[in-house]
Amino acid sequence: MLHAVPELPEIEHLRRTLVDGGIVGARVLEVELRRRDVVRQPGSRRARRRITPADLLQGGAIVDVRRRGKSLALVADNARVLVLHMGMTGSLTIRSPDAPWRSDKHVHCAWLLERGSAARRQPRASPRASPHVRLLFRDPRRFGGLWPFDSMDDLLAHRGGWARLGPDAFDPPLDAAALRTRLLATRQCMKIALLNQRLLAGVGNIYADEALFAAGVHPRLAPRRLREVDWQRLTRALREVLERAVQAGGSSVRDYVDARGSAGDYVRQHRVYGNGGKPCFACGTRLNSCVIGQRTTVFCPVCQPRSHTKSRRKDRARRLARAR
Ligand SMILES: [Zn+2]
Repeated sequence: MLHAVPELPEIEHLRRTLVDGGIVGARVLEVELRRRDVVRQPGSRRARRRITPADLLQGGAIVDVRRRGKSLALVADNARVLVLHMGMTGSLTIRSPDAPWRSDKHVHCAWLLERGSAARRQPRASPRASPHVRLLFRDPRRFGGLWPFDSMDDLLAHRGGWARLGPDAFDPPLDAAALRTRLLATRQCMKIALLNQRLLAGVGNIYADEALFAAGVHPRLAPRRLREVDWQRLTRALREVLERAVQAGGSSVRDYVDARGSAGDYVRQHRVYGNGGKPCFACGTRLNSCVIGQRTTVFCPVCQPRSHTKSRRKDRARRLARAR
């Protein structure tokens, strides 16, 4: 069992399966909140108010499902937004309205939705027969939760919302210059910088290790020591690693499932994450495992050199030899 939380690819895949399931255009007929403490409110205790069914989108129609980093937002036509975090063990699944769920004490909130006729015509929307579906938020360990916002502007501006997050690592895709500018804002090493959600949203432990390996960048290197070519490689690696993981349906970390209840498949493609002590996929050297910023980090000491000085010296020697 991998001890990691869902990251950007898992949440992006979840977002896509929710859209495929026809929840965009669906009207929220009924909300049943079974545990009040899963609804979190940003801001001071005094600013907090009583949660109403409208805060949980009752009466509205879902017009968009958005994501920034690991944070998912259901946007309603009455401008209200409900942000969901899956934490360690959270899931959001679409079920038939007749499927039993009440005996499951880990289901903390349930929405009865009526899908639009357009959604029902889509062959992938299931179950096909009924316009009604139930959306279930389940979270045994309750590190996840629901955050109501009055509007998208509120979510984007609020420090308890997306204002504290950097740009998404995936959407729209970052270029090397933007990535460099973001990460140069910290003096911490590359591994910690990539995990800092204020600099870049969505990259967690698994994909940080995978992208650094694919780019040949040592996790302890300071951002200012990366060369132009390293930034280009890293940008490409991040994009590819995340894209492949989204396609594979995420990494199936812990209890992660998508809106259809399926587990992800990307775990079989991990090159370094979870492979400490095993031979490197590229060169056969034993992969190094260490702890950086309290997170287990796996890297190849040969493919991800700490210093480029030696290779630079070799390059110069080669250039001089050619010049002679
Ligand atoms: Zn290697």
